[in-house]
Amino acid sequence: MEIAAFQRRIEALYLDKDRARGIGGTWLWFTEEVGELAEAIRLGDRDKITEEAADVLAWLSTLASLSGVELDAAVAAKYGDGCPKCSAIPCNCTEDSASLPT
Ligand SMILES: [Zn+2]
Repeated sequence: MEIAAFQRRIEALYLDKDRARGIGGTWLWFTEEVGELAEAIRLGDRDKITEEAADVLAWLSTLASLSGVELDAAVAAKYGDGCPKCSAIPCNCTEDSASLPT
């Protein structure tokens, strides 16, 4: 599933409930799911990691939708041409400059 299609799916499923909950409450759900993903990684439970990664992405998608952000456009703008810092694919940045840009 493409990123934009995924965001539309999550909106169709949950956006009314997400709007009613608000971004603050939604942020709490997101961070709870991040914690569940961390636990699954710590335990090395691949099935659980798979499930929790999907949940984290779903909640991130919701946060983007509530903020008026189109995820597909956001990732294309930032990563579409390679590493945002060095422009290379794969990244040629040193570990000191961090592999994930801020
Ligand atoms: Zn780089």
